[in-house]
Amino acid sequence: MGNPTTPISFEFFPPQTPEGAAKLTAARQKLAAFSPEFFSVTFGAGGSTQDRTLDIIKQIHAEGHSAAPHLSCVGSTRDNIRGLLNTYKDMGIKRIVALRGDLPSGMASIGEFQYANELVSFIRAQTGEHFHIEVAAYPEFHPQAKSARDDMLNYKRKINAGANSAITQYFYNADAYFRFVDETRKLGVEAPIVPGIMPIVRYSQLARFSEMCGAEIPRWMRKTMEGYGDDVESVQNFGLEIVTKLCEKLIAGGVPALHFYTLNQAKASIDILQNLGYRA
Ligand code: FAD
Repeated sequence: MGNPTTPISFEFFPPQTPEGAAKLTAARQKLAAFSPEFFSVTFGAGGSTQDRTLDIIKQIHAEGHSAAPHLSCVGSTRDNIRGLLNTYKDMGIKRIVALRGDLPSGMASIGEFQYANELVSFIRAQTGEHFHIEVAAYPEFHPQAKSARDDMLNYKRKINAGANSAITQYFYNADAYFRFVDETRKLGVEAPIVPGIMPIVRYSQLARFSEMCGAEIPRWMRKTMEGYGDDVESVQNFGLEIVTKLCEKLIAGGVPALHFYTLNQAKASIDILQNLGYRA
């Protein structure tokens, strides 16, 4: 039997140390065997990881894979973003994940862009149709949104500004995703919305991320994982089962693709993919 037909992609963050970079190269080689559509690399708001993002993007591109840099605009200037867009365009990069980002603490100036829709418009104005632009979507809504409706309208604004498709914040409740997709269709927005999948490796780390980004870990999942305490293996087995089932539901519901937040580790994503029938 062949691989499932739902396309996949993998996200990395730029490592801070040579050891981290070596580990990422090894992880990338393992993940590349699953023929992803692209690898994306995050970008620190205010340009805090700008050079490291570019370095990893260059490596992925040189290895012959499709590379998609994230670009966050808060704390940045038009000149700076224009420079990066030109660099990526000249390299032959064809896909960008366009975000607002969050200002690092201590950084006072918002810069010349306030929201992601402004960045999308700017990319289109500067580079026409060269890039496929992805934006972020929030099935459980962005923590700063005034209301669920406002957040939906913001999503629509980003697509109307010229984005082609979206990747979601992670979630463990498939109904939130399917409802979000239905609601966008009711607003007349047809762009594909790819679910972001967060494998579960360490409960404390997941709880910290979820606190920051507003993704809900359902109470029954939290209680179960808290009950495992330091028993990392049980957390990981539980996480694998839950996230596999989530992906099965999403695939059965016809999602356009799955985007994995790898946290620069191959194993947790590969275990899920193998459960789903993907083979290297
Ligand atoms: P926006 O779409 O601009 O929305 C931000 C908030 O402002 C929302 O609450 C929205 O409802 C509200 N809003 C928008 N427009 C208006 C308006 N006109 N008036 C009032 N309110 C408004 N962060 C990084 O720093 N680097 C990354 O590489 C990165 N990658 C990510 C990848 C994905 C797939 C996702 C889902 C998130 C990523 N993030 C990244 C996190 C993201 O930057 C944060 O969630 C950030 O807080 C919001 O970014 P956004 O692009 O969704 O912002």
